[in-house]
Amino acid sequence: MTRWDHAPEIRDLAGQIGGWGGAPVERILDHCRRRIDGWVSDAGGVIGIDALESLVTKRLQMVFEEIRADEDFDRLTQVYARDKREFVFATMRSKFDDDANTTFGALVLRRNATADSPDRYVAVIDCRGSKLARRFFTRWHEIAHRLTTHADGGDTEPGYRSEHDPIERMMDEIAGHVGFYDPIFDPAFRQASEGKHLLTFGTAETIISESFPSASFQATLFACARRMATPVVYLEATLNHKKDVKRKMATPSLFDEEPSPGELRAVKVIPNKAAQDEGFTIPTNMRVPPETVIHRLFDAEPQTSGEDNEDMSQWESKGKSLERRAVVVEGRKVADRVIAIVQPVEKKRAKKQSGRTPLFSE
Ligand SMILES: [Zn+2]
Repeated sequence: MTRWDHAPEIRDLAGQIGGWGGAPVERILDHCRRRIDGWVSDAGGVIGIDALESLVTKRLQMVFEEIRADEDFDRLTQVYARDKREFVFATMRSKFDDDANTTFGALVLRRNATADSPDRYVAVIDCRGSKLARRFFTRWHEIAHRLTTHADGGDTEPGYRSEHDPIERMMDEIAGHVGFYDPIFDPAFRQASEGKHLLTFGTAETIISESFPSASFQATLFACARRMATPVVYLEATLNHKKDVKRKMATPSLFDEEPSPGELRAVKVIPNKAAQDEGFTIPTNMRVPPETVIHRLFDAEPQTSGEDNEDMSQWESKGKSLERRAVVVEGRKVADRVIAIVQPVEKKRAKKQSGRTPLFSE
């Protein structure tokens, strides 16, 4: 069970989907995989991820509209609002331009479409600026909505939820699974990682160039980490504040001076299954130690990569450090952050015995 299994929204969604047994998140994932497996089998198999996306969207009666420039909103207004009388398209730009609540995509059920229209659902994907890097993932995120919350009989209004909303996290989870569809991803992963004990950036790059040309490096690396049978911690580091400072900053009266940019912290930390089983992880929002490769890369040019042998005990907070364990860390500067994988290169050390055993009884 993950903490999302306890969110009422996720439990409700699992309930709507039906079936029984298993934790809610796994049940929802299973439902999505099973629908896609059925369509793939009807079609006699698929050759690659693009063919899978076409097959799935066709079955779901959905089409994509990509926003590459601001003018694309005028085009959507013309095509959908004026010509097809779907007025929601005339006002959606403000949602996508709202910096306070980043929106990457939206799924619209066309009110004037017929039950068999191939474009009954329109997924609008924002590909402007830095959002372009997420294009592949956003498309699968909207497919995930159509498979679940926007399934026939589900929500009909486009949802603009915050990225921390459990439903949005669930859609990302589904996108991470079905967008890197096992029957296509697994052979590519096996081939790319042949003969290697540890995950490397090179493995993710080979998979992208061979099989997932439109996936981002970040999403592909994460998909690889998830499949590793050995412990891998995927992390993203960027400038952030301590929790209590963040709270103060939310109340302007308590924070008169210019707010500081914060320190480099591990803002996103995702241990894979093997890492969770061993308790091998880094606490979220921990400060990145200054003398590490992640810290060096943060000050480097975008797309710079680096690797180093380090020790988990370098990570410390309030005078306490993480347990000693030799690790290899590989990282890359991507946009405003460093993304990295941390993997142990030695076995978990046995816990030191607490206190000394007296040799002689006194
Ligand atoms: Zn969404």
